[in-house]
Amino acid sequence: MHTLSTQPLISIVLPVFNEAAGIQTTIATLEHFVSVQPERFELIFVDDGSTDDSLAQLQAARQHNPNLKIVQFARNFGHQLAISAGLREAHGDAVIVMDADLQDPPSVIPSMIAKWQAGAAVVYGQRRHRSGETWFKKASAAAFYRLLKAMTNTDIPVDTGDFRLMDRRVVNVLKSMNESDPYVRGMVAWVGFDQTSVLYDRQDRTAGESKYPLRQMIRLAMNGLTSFSTVPLALANWLAGSFGLTAALILLGNGLAGTVTTLTWLLVSLFIIGAGITATIGIMGSYLGRVFTASRRRPAYVIQATYGFEHPVARPATRQMMQG
Ligand code: UDP
Ligand code: MG
Repeated sequence: MHTLSTQPLISIVLPVFNEAAGIQTTIATLEHFVSVQPERFELIFVDDGSTDDSLAQLQAARQHNPNLKIVQFARNFGHQLAISAGLREAHGDAVIVMDADLQDPPSVIPSMIAKWQAGAAVVYGQRRHRSGETWFKKASAAAFYRLLKAMTNTDIPVDTGDFRLMDRRVVNVLKSMNESDPYVRGMVAWVGFDQTSVLYDRQDRTAGESKYPLRQMIRLAMNGLTSFSTVPLALANWLAGSFGLTAALILLGNGLAGTVTTLTWLLVSLFIIGAGITATIGIMGSYLGRVFTASRRRPAYVIQATYGFEHPVARPATRQMMQG
């Protein structure tokens, strides 16, 4: 039988952006969940520049729960950077990342912990079923994950989001990566160690609406592609090769027949080559853009304040009373 102090500490990191409508439910659900688990927990909410009263509600919840910690971003830096910041501030032997809208059910956590204790370094939640999401979102997500898998050497598992448990070793590597435009799930896959999954049904949002408009989804997908695959660059080479071949064939065909109007072919080949050059430059440009971003060496995010990190694990008030 474990005593309290030898129980592992588990950090739960939740990025929060304008979740005021549902944050109370999330806090209450997690506090209840944590209270019936044998392990020790800290809850780290990263307020990603919310403009509603998400932060005020979190601070109110801190009044009765010192193990609830808050990182407040100076503005909205985005979901992936909010996760990165949470990982950086976490003290846990393992860190769990989950959405603040309860789409990732806490009931999956015990099986994640069990697999971690059995030796897995990463246990990611793999969606068996997504409810309450449009067919477009499901179809585009399914297509994207498969495309990414086909285009990279890193074995990024399909149908997973950021809901996962990571061992301290993995978190330390992620902290050292320090990417300014991180694609966390790709980085986790890249780290390696024993990675396994638990299947779960993705729930409806408890409240509010998705903070991931199409524009953001495309951005995330492009980040994933350009930071984990060089296949698009190779694609440009193939394009260039086939354009060269086409030009050669046209020349050869014209030479042999000697009747086709040269002007037509010239125009056609000019357009083809023009398109090829543009495509190549475009793809190179997107990589160059990443180099440019990285070379600026700006901090990836700015934290305005942190709350509750004075003690690695604060004891709940009731326990202090019992001891005193
Ligand atoms: N989120 C964030 N910053 C953003 C957008 C979203 O921290 O700029 C948080 C959001 O509060 C939620 C999680 O990231 O906890 C996932 O976002 P959302 O639920 O809107 O995405 P979906 O589940 O619809 O893909
Ligand atoms: Mg969600």
